[in-house]
Amino acid sequence: MRHGTSLALLLMIGLFDMAILGILILYLTVGVEVTAMGQWKELHSDDPKYVALTFDDGPNREYTKVLLDGLKERNVKASFFLLGKCIPGNEELVKLMDRDGHLIGVHGMDHRDLAKEKPEYAVKQIAEAGEMIREVTGKEPDYMRPPYGSWNENLEEAVGKELLLVPVFWDVDSLDWKLQDSGKIVKKVLKDVENGEIILLHDEFAASVEAAFQIIDKLRAKGYTFVTVDELMVD
Ligand SMILES: [Zn+2]
Repeated sequence: MRHGTSLALLLMIGLFDMAILGILILYLTVGVEVTAMGQWKELHSDDPKYVALTFDDGPNREYTKVLLDGLKERNVKASFFLLGKCIPGNEELVKLMDRDGHLIGVHGMDHRDLAKEKPEYAVKQIAEAGEMIREVTGKEPDYMRPPYGSWNENLEEAVGKELLLVPVFWDVDSLDWKLQDSGKIVKKVLKDVENGEIILLHDEFAASVEAAFQIIDKLRAKGYTFVTVDELMVD
């Protein structure tokens, strides 16, 4: 009888151990699968990631064409904020920009800080640059980027109401004008950028153009799609 009890007890312990082992194996298998799934998802995520490249201060006789060729080669659409004073003599570049499907917005006539000017004067400057763009492309610009990102309520009121232009700022400042080194510019942008953000660059430096190509190739490998700013600004 005692022997029988011990046997039953041993059997129970044995079954219990097997159950524990079974749970452990199941837990480990599922765990490994969940981790593997996580890694797989990260690499093959269907969640779309978008980013917009913006180029200010052009068109530039020396570098804008190189940039446009590289963007076309990579099938990337970007956004350009032009200075009115740079347009005369570079009309073909602006036409090409438009033909290639890039967004063209106003940066100003020259590069003065419009928040320091009277709103009426700022409106006049922006309207003049917008008109120069319209004369070349046949399209009225819808967006503007204030030089230095300098903006205030008076400008918002005047520019928004009179010109119906939407100001576009940026999330990631590449500091390309200061760094002047494509490797450093790429590193800065890749470190800061997140989904849905706008990157600021200038198509007036060789390093910026080279950096833009590397940024495109590297962010694409991470699953990013390049869009124009209007596509990011739609809520
Ligand atoms: Zn600028």
